[in-house]
Amino acid sequence: PDEAGSDKITMKVYDMASTSTEQLDESLKRPSQKSPEAIMKIITPIIDDVRKNGDKAVLSYTHKFEKATSLTSPVLKAPFPESLMQLPAETIKAIDVSFENIRKFHAAQKEEKPLQVETMPGVVCSRFSRPIEAVGLYVPGGTAVLPSTALMLGVPAMVAGCKKIVLASPPRSDGTITPEIVYVAHKVGAESIVLAGGAQAVAAMAYGTESVTKVDKILGPGNQFVTAAKMYVSNDTNAGVSIDMPAGPSEVLVIADQDATPAFVASDLLSQAEHGVDSQVVLIAVDLTDAQLAAIEDEVHWQAMELPRVDIVRGSIAHSLTVRVKTVDEAMEISNKYAPEHLILQLKDAEEAVDKVMNAGSVFIGEWTPESVGDYSAGVNHSLPCVATYGFAKQYSGVNLASFVKHITSSNLTAEGLRNVGEAVMQLAKVEELEAHRRAVSIRLEHMNR
Ligand code: NAD
Repeated sequence: PDEAGSDKITMKVYDMASTSTEQLDESLKRPSQKSPEAIMKIITPIIDDVRKNGDKAVLSYTHKFEKATSLTSPVLKAPFPESLMQLPAETIKAIDVSFENIRKFHAAQKEEKPLQVETMPGVVCSRFSRPIEAVGLYVPGGTAVLPSTALMLGVPAMVAGCKKIVLASPPRSDGTITPEIVYVAHKVGAESIVLAGGAQAVAAMAYGTESVTKVDKILGPGNQFVTAAKMYVSNDTNAGVSIDMPAGPSEVLVIADQDATPAFVASDLLSQAEHGVDSQVVLIAVDLTDAQLAAIEDEVHWQAMELPRVDIVRGSIAHSLTVRVKTVDEAMEISNKYAPEHLILQLKDAEEAVDKVMNAGSVFIGEWTPESVGDYSAGVNHSLPCVATYGFAKQYSGVNLASFVKHITSSNLTAEGLRNVGEAVMQLAKVEELEAHRRAVSIRLEHMNR
C-alpha cells in the first residue's frame, strides 16, 4: 500500500501485480461495528417495554432519543393536514417526477397473469401473487432527512396494493416530521406515520400498540439498532412479522478504464463516501497509467475539499481503496467476490461487462449514469443489500415489487391427473410411513374404479 501524504484525501492503492488475494481480502474487510451481542443487550429491554407498555413506552423513548418532549401521541393518522406538507414548488416537482418513474418501473414488475403449468396430463400447477396486507416502512431520520427512502418503500407498497401502509420515522426535536416525508406518505396513501425511530418504532409496528397498527412485514434501512430490532422481531413467533433484509452502511465499487473521465469517477466515489464514516468506496482501475490514476486521485481530493460533509468523507476514504488490475475480467472477479451494493461501470464497453456481473445490488452503466440517479429518480429501487456487515448482495435482492407480495401456489387435478400422478404419491407416502397421505389418494382411485 502506498500511504498518502498527511492531508491529502486519498485512498490506499493496491496493485494486483504485487498483492496477494489474501492481502486484498483483508483490506476489503469492513470497518468494524459494535458487536451484535452488545446491540441486542441495548434493544431487547426497549422492545419488551414497548410490547408491555405500548404508546407510553414509545413516547418515552422518543422523548429520550429525539428530545421531542412536547410530543403527546406517537402516531400521525391520515388524512395528513396540508399544513404539514408545505414545500417549495421545485421540491414537489422533484418528488412527483421521482414518484412517477419509481411507480412505472415497479408497476412493470407486476405479474399480469398467474403462472400455470400442466406438469402431467390433468395435473395443473399455478402460482399467483397477493399483496401483503399491512406493511411498516422504516425511514431513517437520525442524521439526515430521507424522503427518497420513503418513496423507495412507499411507492412499491402502493403499486403492490398493500392495504395498510404505515411509515415510521424519528421526529425532529420539536415533535414534527419533515414535510417531504408527510407529502410522500400522502402520495402513497399511507394510513399513518409513527413518530418514532430505532428499536421502539420497529417494536411498535411488529406488535402494535393502542395507536400503532400492527404490520405483517417491516422494510427499510436504518442504523444498527434498527437492523438488530428487525432481526429480533422477525425471530419472535409471537410477533408474526417478517423483514426485508439486514441493511447497513452504504458502499460503492467503481470499475474504470482508460475511457473514464477522472472527474466523473471521483464524483461517484464521493457520493457514497459522504453517507457516513462507516461507508466504504472501492475503485478498480483497469489498466490505468500512473498519470491517469493520479488524475482521479487529484479529483477525489479537490472535489472532497469542496463538500460540506468533508469530515465524513475523510473518515470513509480512510478505509477505502483503489485496486489496480490489468483486465476487465480481473476487475469483475474482484467485484463479484466483494458483491457491492452499488456497482458503477465506467468502461468503454460498459454494457458488455454487465453480462459478467454475478453479485451486486444495483448496476450503473456507462459514464452518463451516476449512482445518484438510482438513489432518487431514475425508477430503480435504492433499498439494497449491502456488503456492509455481512456481504449480503450475494444472497439477497434489493427491495422490489416482490418484497410486498406473497406468492401462493395451487394445484388442480382431474380424475385423469390423479390417475397419472397417484402411484408416485402413494409410493412416497409409503416410504415416509404416512398412511393417511397414501389413503387420501387410494380412496379416490378406488372410487373412480367402482
Ligand atoms: P435511524 O433512524 O436509523 O436511527 C435513529 C434511532 O436510533 C433513534 O431514533 C434511536 O431510537 C436509535 N438510537 C440512537 N442511539 C441509540 C442508543 N444509544 N441506544 C438505543 N437506540 C439508539 O437513523 P441514523 O442513526 O441516522 O441511521 C441511518 C442509517 O441508515 C445509516 O446507517 C445510513 O447509512 C442508513 N441508510 C441506508 C440506506 C440504504 O439503502 N442502505 C438508505 C438510507 C439510509
